[in-house]
Amino acid sequence: MKVNEKCVGCGQCIAFCKYEAIEVRGKAIFNSACIACKACIPYCPVKAIEA
Ligand code: SF4
Ligand code: SF4
Repeated sequence: MKVNEKCVGCGQCIAFCKYEAIEVRGKAIFNSACIACKACIPYCPVKAIEA
């Protein structure tokens, strides 16, 4: 999973990952718990999450 330049660090995506795999440090980052299920993609309001 990748976060593109559109990420504004709002943190809204965190709540939609049931694996607690997203952290925000300025921008969203995916930690080692991410299984690439892609469930978080539609919840980013600026479409910053890419597979
Ligand atoms: S990926 Fe989207 S929802 Fe997550 S912090 Fe960035 S802008 Fe917000
Ligand atoms: S792809 Fe799935 S596991 Fe990875 S951060 Fe998004 S919701 Fe969480």
